[in-house]
Amino acid sequence: MDAIKGYFPSNYEQSRSTFRGHLETIKRKWPEAELTTVHIGKEEDNTIDMISSNAIHNNEQVLFFTTGEHGIEGYAGAAMIHLMTNEYLEHIDPATTGICLIHALNPWGMRNFRRVTENNVDLNRNYLYNRASVPHNVNKNYEKENELFLPDGKITDLSKEKMKLQTQLVKAISSEGYSAIKEAKGMGQFEFERGVYYGGKKEEETAIFLKKIQNQLLSDYPRVIHMDWHTALGPANEITMVVSSEDERGEEELKAIYDLKNIQKFTPIKVKGDSTNHFHKLKNEQYPSTYLFSALFEFGTFGSGLKAELREFITIILENRLYWDGAEKQVDREWILSEFREMFYPLNDDWKKSILDEGRLGMEAVLGKEGILKIS
Ligand SMILES: [Zn+2]
Repeated sequence: MDAIKGYFPSNYEQSRSTFRGHLETIKRKWPEAELTTVHIGKEEDNTIDMISSNAIHNNEQVLFFTTGEHGIEGYAGAAMIHLMTNEYLEHIDPATTGICLIHALNPWGMRNFRRVTENNVDLNRNYLYNRASVPHNVNKNYEKENELFLPDGKITDLSKEKMKLQTQLVKAISSEGYSAIKEAKGMGQFEFERGVYYGGKKEEETAIFLKKIQNQLLSDYPRVIHMDWHTALGPANEITMVVSSEDERGEEELKAIYDLKNIQKFTPIKVKGDSTNHFHKLKNEQYPSTYLFSALFEFGTFGSGLKAELREFITIILENRLYWDGAEKQVDREWILSEFREMFYPLNDDWKKSILDEGRLGMEAVLGKEGILKIS
């Protein structure tokens, strides 16, 4: 399929080199644009890359894209930066609009096709505004069901394990309630280093870096428009906008304003430590006069509904266990990894084409409404 050609590289290094190549294109509009490369983590050559520039005459607003907070999800994010550079740059006025594009907030995860960092941290549970205020055992539902979420030895018989997990999940749902199990996931946990949805004991290097950028943009511009790109959540092959609970507008109001079909709001109980929430809190407390639009944009894979959510739980739990404890059989290992891949960066061309189409819808809706794009 020609439409998707060049947008979906097969590894992190290819994706990064495509991203670095955008500098030339961007410099045609913002001659002062620069590429910043920040080394992250214990391994060599994992970097966050950022292309940024002030507006040429007057910093009235800035377009801010972040990708790869959840490692493997960064491939779709990088495709969005690529798409924006190819199709929308010409509709942006560089005289008054600055630009800041970030490739791979979690480069280790992107390189290794994992969601978490090399410290097993889910970055979107790591941006606590006030870390001291969150007790390490805050997630009671997770504690209660922790045998479900923690690795439990080498995988010897995958079909048995899948059955067992399915039974455990259904049992947990019937005894604790569906919302309690969803909460165990969404809230994150700060107690079990090898468990899923781990938020970390301290701030990750990436979180320190991103907080600095958030501060800088909020102080340099009166208007900041931020799209943070993810995959998996929401209806399959569609875009879903997920808005911070710090944004005072309700779901219906947001739908009317942005003309998007799928819009969800975080409640603070659902997610602790997500980065857009941090951005809004920082703005409210330190830059109250700055206008901030900041939301997550998700491309759905498994779909929504109970069946899809059970599949997601099982995939996440098995992949984590495979990482820590391994599997006896190669075929089991491959099945888990391909299921994980299907959840966050599917190989099929229809999905890839759909996210380009849906990405266009999302960008036109949000960047059009927020006055970044001048489409006549
Ligand atoms: Zn994500």
